[in-house]
Amino acid sequence: MRKELADKLAAQYSEMLRCPVNVGDGWYSIVRKLLSALRKESSKVRVINIEQEFGGLQVYINPRTTKLDKIVQQYEDKSWKVCEYCGSAKEVRRHSVSGRRTVLCGDCAHDHK
Ligand SMILES: [Zn+2]
Repeated sequence: MRKELADKLAAQYSEMLRCPVNVGDGWYSIVRKLLSALRKESSKVRVINIEQEFGGLQVYINPRTTKLDKIVQQYEDKSWKVCEYCGSAKEVRRHSVSGRRTVLCGDCAHDHK
């Protein structure tokens, strides 16, 4: 993720964000909404890892509760329908770019062929 986007998240969610945000720019708004939803649910929750795994968003939190897990799951599911590069939801499919699996929209997939 671009530094200015990552910095924005770090500043806005400093008390709960305990890890770098290792995903593409396209998922900025998913990550931001997820953090906001988690904070609304619990003031104690900490996000300990955010990464892209097997093409989708993976977020690890502590402590976990059924409700918090459900929120995380909801946003992880959303990531499969949003281009990790640009955030578009148009013709989003799984792709492999330089051996790394990801989800890309039609335009980005074309650019990275
Ligand atoms: Zn795209």
